[in-house]
Amino acid sequence: MATRRRTLLKVIVLGDSGVGKTSLMNQYVHKKFSQQYKATIGADFVTKEILVDDRLVTLQIWDTAGQERFQSLGVAFYRGADCCVLVYDVNVLRSFDTLDNWHEEFLNQASPSDPKTFPFILLGNKIDVDGGNSRVVSEKKAKEWCASKGNIPYFETSAKEDYNVDAAFLCVAKLALEHDRDQDIYFQNIPEPIAEAEQSRGCAC
Ligand code: GDP
Ligand code: MG
Repeated sequence: MATRRRTLLKVIVLGDSGVGKTSLMNQYVHKKFSQQYKATIGADFVTKEILVDDRLVTLQIWDTAGQERFQSLGVAFYRGADCCVLVYDVNVLRSFDTLDNWHEEFLNQASPSDPKTFPFILLGNKIDVDGGNSRVVSEKKAKEWCASKGNIPYFETSAKEDYNVDAAFLCVAKLALEHDRDQDIYFQNIPEPIAEAEQSRGCAC
């Protein structure tokens, strides 16, 4: 069997408070759903190992501990992200309207080297609510937003009914993996002389 390289990918999940970020992660990683609303406590991230095209990948998925209300997540949260998952609630217009802010906030804070091509994914969550009757954001409207941001992939999900959750995170893993590979190529191309110059400025004795 071919040797498998283990890859760690950092994924961050952003969106308004209450849209179901923690529930989606719980459903994906622990296959559990709770109706009770709890502000996220404890670990900053959860991990899940999956196989993507025969490659073992560890997804490190970072959740906000309720600070999203104040939009003060700190640089450590964003640092080194390989993919950003944006979540809104299809039944709450405001959570869709704030996507622009989250998108911009991510690009400002994480400042990826490739803002135009950095992988985002959008999840429209809670599609199960009231059999779809309380929905206020259409799939068409969401897809138009995705197109306007450079063709971000879009998934409609239900953390409650475990609908499309695995598919969405598999897409996340694939996008992050691609991005990780592109970054490797980017770093390999950094010319040597810089490193030498650094060394020569070091100890003079
Ligand atoms: P967060 O603040 O974005 O992390 O949101 P939570 O994951 O804490 O979810 C907020 C509330 O919405 C909780 O009461 C969840 O049980 C509920 N919730 C989350 N996802 C879904 C879903 O897909 N369907 C339904 N009906 N409720 C959901
Ligand atoms: Mg939460």
